[in-house]
Amino acid sequence: MTSTGKQSAALGADFLRHELQEAAPRATGVEGYMEHDAAVYRTLLESTRAIPWKIDWASMEFAYVGPQIEALLGWAPSSWKNVQDWAARMHPEDRDKVVEFCVAQSKAGTDHEADYRALTSRGEYVWLRDVVHVVRDERGEVSALVGFMFDISERKKTEEKLAALQRELEALSFKDGLTSVGNRREFDAVLQREWSAAQRHGSPLSLIMVDVDFFKSYNDYYGHVQGDACLKRIAGVLSDAARPGDFVGRFGGEEFVLILPNTGADAAREAAERCRGLIGAAKIPHERSPFRQTVTASFGVGSVIPAEAGDPLAFVNFVDTQLYRAKDNGRDCIAAGKPAG
Ligand code: GH3
Ligand code: MG
Ligand code: MG
Repeated sequence: MTSTGKQSAALGADFLRHELQEAAPRATGVEGYMEHDAAVYRTLLESTRAIPWKIDWASMEFAYVGPQIEALLGWAPSSWKNVQDWAARMHPEDRDKVVEFCVAQSKAGTDHEADYRALTSRGEYVWLRDVVHVVRDERGEVSALVGFMFDISERKKTEEKLAALQRELEALSFKDGLTSVGNRREFDAVLQREWSAAQRHGSPLSLIMVDVDFFKSYNDYYGHVQGDACLKRIAGVLSDAARPGDFVGRFGGEEFVLILPNTGADAAREAAERCRGLIGAAKIPHERSPFRQTVTASFGVGSVIPAEAGDPLAFVNFVDTQLYRAKDNGRDCIAAGKPAG
């Protein structure tokens, strides 16, 4: 061991002896043992993976830092002089929040812990958890802070992986498994959100419901697997037809839906025409369809400036009746309207 190492180990033994004496019952046996077995403390201190430290409250200087800090961060224990060194070796994004929190807790005399990224001498960052205990003198005044730094980088990595998975799962839970457009759940959430926004701003909101024509006979003729592929194509075409800010989702079965925020009746009708045109241009073969033996769809369109007492469900029902009108009108067409009131 280097002389600096020996020095800091001796300091560490003193430090831990003091802390243990503070905490232990004043039995002579225990005290005697403590007095004479500094080597035990040294071994204890240096064999733990947690890094002990002590800061003198009056001077804000490090009275001790465990030598393990050099292996973890690359900075020699002697380079940890005061709290400024501690703050300076903290990630800039963590610094203000962590320093402010630790100072406030220490001033209040409250034990605390903080997670932050500490800079290594190689310019990388390691996640640390600092667990801090406030030491008071006989008069009850804060005299020092003692604590342990724990390397929590592995735990943080696992936490970040879990959080990423969680985000992925959450995103998946809003997507239709077959076509990857929004699912019914997302449709409900987006409609509610856009309805409320339109209500607040007095702006128009439009909805387009799309139902593939003669899809049962498509499945009967081509089989379900190709039926699925056809639905994916249609979802792709509708996504191409949508503008940024529009929502495209699968309502269920062979029915799709578009929510068009800030869109009045004329622009909504144009959007439906665009969808119909693009589906026609895709020329997906459909032997059993009377429309040029290609896949077509029918469209119901509704536009509304939501009233305070209005209800998005009633609006969806209204647009659904427009869709039925388009079917009644012979399919491969658009029926549009504005709900009464
Ligand atoms: P219309 O022109 O009146 O809309 O007639 P249609 O045949 O399209 O309507 P119908 O409601 O009779 O049939 C819809 C078909 O859509 C029946 C069902 O098998 C099919 N379908 C629903 N979901 C899926 C799916 O996920 N994959 C496939 N391949 N077919 C589906
Ligand atoms: Mg249908
Ligand atoms: Mg259909």
